[in-house]
Amino acid sequence: MQHFVGGAHAEAEPPAWADVHDPARGSVSGRVALGDAGAVAEAVKVALDAQAAWAEESLGGRQQVLLEFIRLIERSRDELAELVTGEHGKTLADARAEVNAGLDVAKFAAGIPHLLKGDFSENVSRGVDTYSIRQPLGVVAGITPFNFPVMVPMWMAPIAIACGNAFVLKPSEKDPSAGNRLAELALEAGLPAGVFNVVHGGAEAVDALLAHPDVAAVSFVGSTPVARHVYETAAKHGKRVQALGGAKNHLIVLPDADLDAAADALVSAAYGSAGERCMAISVAVAVGGVGDALRERLVARIERLSTADGHDEGTDMGPLVTADHLRRVSGYVQAGADAGADLVVDGREVRVPGRENGFFLAPTLIDHVRPDMTVYTDEIFGPVLSMLRVDSLEEAVALINGGEYGNGVSLYTRDGVAARQFQHTVQAGMVGLNVPIPVPVPYFPFGGWKHSLFGDSGQYGEDGIRFFTRRKVVTSRWAPSAGSRVDLRFPG
Ligand code: NAD
Repeated sequence: MQHFVGGAHAEAEPPAWADVHDPARGSVSGRVALGDAGAVAEAVKVALDAQAAWAEESLGGRQQVLLEFIRLIERSRDELAELVTGEHGKTLADARAEVNAGLDVAKFAAGIPHLLKGDFSENVSRGVDTYSIRQPLGVVAGITPFNFPVMVPMWMAPIAIACGNAFVLKPSEKDPSAGNRLAELALEAGLPAGVFNVVHGGAEAVDALLAHPDVAAVSFVGSTPVARHVYETAAKHGKRVQALGGAKNHLIVLPDADLDAAADALVSAAYGSAGERCMAISVAVAVGGVGDALRERLVARIERLSTADGHDEGTDMGPLVTADHLRRVSGYVQAGADAGADLVVDGREVRVPGRENGFFLAPTLIDHVRPDMTVYTDEIFGPVLSMLRVDSLEEAVALINGGEYGNGVSLYTRDGVAARQFQHTVQAGMVGLNVPIPVPVPYFPFGGWKHSLFGDSGQYGEDGIRFFTRRKVVTSRWAPSAGSRVDLRFPG
C-alpha cells in the first residue's frame, strides 16, 4: 500500500516497507510503505497548495461533496468492511457497523452550513456590531490506531475537510488499506485532489508530521504513551493538538440490576472486536454479593460464543491483530493466574480448524482479580474480562477514580438515586447507565478524562468544529459618522 497524495498513489519506491498480515491466517497479505520526513514533506506541500482554493469553496459546495462522499461510502460499505476484516480481523458484521459509525460523523459534518454559523451582537456600542467567524486552520494531520481503520479516520477527516482544511491521514501501519480507499472515495465525490492525502508509516512519519512547520494541528488517537508523546511534541512545535489515549473501562453491577441484561452487556462489550476497542469493557465490578450469580451468567454466554475467521458467517469473535499482540495478551492471562486470580474461562487453547496459524485467543474470564494485579492495572486490549468484587457503589467508584484512565464507564442498576450519584462522582468522560458502551452520538463530543485524553478537546460534535477552526471576532462600525474624536481611553 502506497501513499495517496494529490489524488494519486505514489510511485516512487519508499525507503522501506512493512508487512501487513491477514490475522485469521497468520500470513503476510501485503506490504505498506514506511514514509519518512521526505514523504511527509511532499504530502504537506501538496495539501498546502490545495487548501487555499478549498477554503474558498462555498459552504453549500463543501456540503455537496460530503453528501456525495456519504453516498459513495454507503455504496462501498461491504468493500470497506472486507478491507477491515482482512487486515484487522474483526467480523464482517462488526466491520460494517464500524463503517456506519464513521458515516454518522460524515452526516454530522454535512451540516457544516449550520455548524459554522458564528455569533452576532448588534449595537455593542452605538452603530457598532460585533460578530465571530470560524475559519480553517490550513493543513491538519490525523494519526490513527489500528483498531478502527475506518471509523477513527472518519471521526476527523469529514469535519476537518468540511471546515475548509486540507487533511493528511497517517493510518496505522497494521491495517493501512481502508485509509487509502476513503481518500479515493472523497476524490470521486468531487473533493479536489490534494485536500485528503494519506501518508503511511510508523513513528518516523508521525514525528515528521509533529515537527513540520506547515501542519497547523494534529488529531491523534492511539495508546497512552504515544498520545502523551504526540501531545508534548506537537505542543512544543506550536501546534494545536488533541491526543486520545488508552482505557480501562469498568462496568459496575449493583445487586438490584437486571442481571441477564448486565451479563449480555458485559459479554458484548468485553469480547466484541476481540476486546480491541478503546470503549471495550475490561473490568466487571460486582457489588454486594452479586458476583456468583453474575459469573454463572457470564460463563453460560461465553460458552456459546464462536471464535473463528471474521469472514465466516456465524463468527462472534475474530483473531487479534498481530502475533506480537497475541503473545502480549496471553502473557497478561498467565500473569493474572500466577498472581492468584481465578482463571474461570481460559481462551488460550483455542484451535480454529483451517486457521491454525491465525492469531486467535478465545474469550477469557478471570474472577477474584485484585487491584494490584497487572491484569487489572494495565490496558490489555484483548478479549480478557476481569471481575472484581466490592461491597458498595462507593467502593466501586473509588476504584475507578483511583485508576490511570477515564474513558468510559457503565453502571447497571434499577436505582435512580444510585445512578445519579454515580454519574455525579465518577471520573470519566463518557458514562453509561444501563448501556454497555456509552459512545456518544456524533452531535455530542467523544473523549475521556485523565490519561485517556491529552488536551481539552474531544473528537467530533462541537469539539470537532472548534478543533478544526480558528475563531475571529470582528468589531465593525457601519454607521453615519457621529462626530469622531481622539480619545485615548481604553474602549469600554
Ligand atoms: P498506537 O499508539 O501503537 O498507534 C497509534 C498510532 O501512532 C499509529 O498510527 C502508529 O503508527 C503511531 N505510533 C506508534 N508508535 C509510535 C511512536 N513511538 N511514535 C510516534 N507514533 C507512533 O496504538 P494502536 O495499538 O494502533 O491502537 C490501540 C490503542 O489505541 C489502545 O491503547 C486504545 O485504547 C487506543 N484507542 C483509543 C481511542 C480513544 O478514543 N481514546 C480510540 C481507539 C483506540
